[in-house]
Amino acid sequence: MGHPSWMQSGLLLLMLACSIALFWKRFGRVVNIIRDAKKDSDFNLQPVAPRLGQFAWEVLLQGRVIRERPLPGLAHALVFWGFCAFALVSLNHLAEGFGGRILSRESIYFRFVDGFALLVSVSIIGLAVRRFIWRPRWLGPLSPESGVIAFLIFALMITYLAGRWWFTEATVWGDANWWAHTILLLVFLPLIPHTKHLHLVLSPITIFLKRQGFSRIPPLASDEDFGLVSGKDVTRIDALQAYSCVECGRCTEHCPAFNTGKVLNPKEIILGLRRYLNTQGPGSDQPLLDGGYILEEAAFQCTSCGGCEYQCPVGIQHLPIIIGLRRGAVNTGAWEDEHGTKLFLNIERGGNSLGFAAAERQKFIERNSLPVYDGTQEYCLWLGCMGSYDPQGREIVLALVELLRYLGVTFGVLSREKCNGDPVRRLGNDYLFQQMVEFNAEQLRQSKATRLISICPHCVRTIGEDWKEHASAFTIEHHSELLERFRSRLPAGGASERVVFHDPCYLGRYRGIYDAPRSVLERSGEVVEPGRTRERSFCCGAGGGMMFLGEEKGKRINVERAQELVSTGAPVIGTACPFCQTMFRDALANISQSPPRLLDIAQIAAAPLRQGQVQPQ
Ligand code: SF4
Ligand code: SF4
Repeated sequence: MGHPSWMQSGLLLLMLACSIALFWKRFGRVVNIIRDAKKDSDFNLQPVAPRLGQFAWEVLLQGRVIRERPLPGLAHALVFWGFCAFALVSLNHLAEGFGGRILSRESIYFRFVDGFALLVSVSIIGLAVRRFIWRPRWLGPLSPESGVIAFLIFALMITYLAGRWWFTEATVWGDANWWAHTILLLVFLPLIPHTKHLHLVLSPITIFLKRQGFSRIPPLASDEDFGLVSGKDVTRIDALQAYSCVECGRCTEHCPAFNTGKVLNPKEIILGLRRYLNTQGPGSDQPLLDGGYILEEAAFQCTSCGGCEYQCPVGIQHLPIIIGLRRGAVNTGAWEDEHGTKLFLNIERGGNSLGFAAAERQKFIERNSLPVYDGTQEYCLWLGCMGSYDPQGREIVLALVELLRYLGVTFGVLSREKCNGDPVRRLGNDYLFQQMVEFNAEQLRQSKATRLISICPHCVRTIGEDWKEHASAFTIEHHSELLERFRSRLPAGGASERVVFHDPCYLGRYRGIYDAPRSVLERSGEVVEPGRTRERSFCCGAGGGMMFLGEEKGKRINVERAQELVSTGAPVIGTACPFCQTMFRDALANISQSPPRLLDIAQIAAAPLRQGQVQPQ
């Protein structure tokens, strides 16, 4: 604008003060809620380097947003980068209203921002079309506030470009356009904290501060900490994450429970927590579950597949919240479930999740002449509940044993071993989990076992990560990792069939292992990919203790996934987790008269040995 009069500057000052006051009225309340929430007892800013890397990739480069949904992601990234570019231009714009100027109109920076204004305009139209016309169902009900914000951003860009290209400064039209841009700017500012666009301010902080480690369950702070029971138990990180949700529905889109008609919708868990904090506050005694905010039923439908956390573009970690809610319900005795009680009793009394007598494991070891680990062998072979008791799991162990013997890798099993505690940990029973860790860690220490190997990604994750809370860490790897190292020496031959490989959640998203099992399978056949694969793999439905609870609502998750695998037409389904195999075995019996064969990668790799095509070395 031309040189402003003192009245114009005064008016601008008044409008600016109102806008900032309205912004702070809501934003200050959110800051207070987060500050008043419980401290995260285990929070540690160190090491900072990975946090900075995460910040650069996820915030500055918008890498996660673009990687997971390239077109809408790029549109969103352009809007974000446009906002960053406009920060200086907006300050300059306001300074003009007080007779000042930070940038010359001829500055090259303006030309750069002109380009962004065009890109942001096109992007915002694209995003609005997707939100209001071709609307994916996981976005939930139409949100008028999204329309208002989209209109404001578009109008801001147009008034900016009009000021640059069409209207001359210090003319009536030029000044009118300047004021229009100013009003839009000052209306936009207070709308940020009053809407989901609060993520503009909070998500960079959320991403930088999020808990390190995928789906990491924070330890309980003390004997008085029962998990997420009421507002008093909500931590600052939980609260920060709840206020950062942009309601994009990416978590919902990938949730196996939501996609098969369950009550659980991970987005609604986060929004339920936000509603609770808004109305009850972080100091409230009001229960978090079943008070109109979050349903207990939903919390106990989660398979802990991690799809939600993996997808979330603003750093929200659903699992610590969902497991925290389960802890609260289990530790206070509020959760009553016949199957859950049976599982807890099986583990408590028999030491395994399947309800067998421990003597059955011993018989299996003796019948198959499995050596006992005595500290001299290279690996301690951890059998796990499935490898010890489940007939199919035992088959996988025996196939791996054949391969280890063929490769000349020495191993031994523990004479006593209980469940590693994975299902009780994820169902919120920390007391029982701790008992399992302490017993098993003692067995491993007595046996002087340091390097473990397992056929089960759940055992690998729990022993390698979750146990750290109660015992010193043990090095454990999944059999796919070991077999990949010996790939060139694996027995050659076999049927050379097409194998559709299912990525187990706890091997893929949790451990980042995708290529190793494929590399093993490629020795024996052609690997076929299902529709949802690798990082986007769809859960089999077993995790989070769900294999032991009744899946009562909607379509069964294992059936949904098995149908997807069968639809590839591959004659063999390749698995790398005994839980997945059990789930698919049940599902295949119900969906096909002549289902594909279901085999673990160890069974496929050992097939030439069994068919007598290769002589053991
Ligand atoms: S972990 Fe998996 S099942 Fe649980 S809420 Fe997230 S996406 Fe859904
Ligand atoms: S929790 Fe994350 S992925 Fe889910 S709706 Fe919110 S921002 Fe999107």
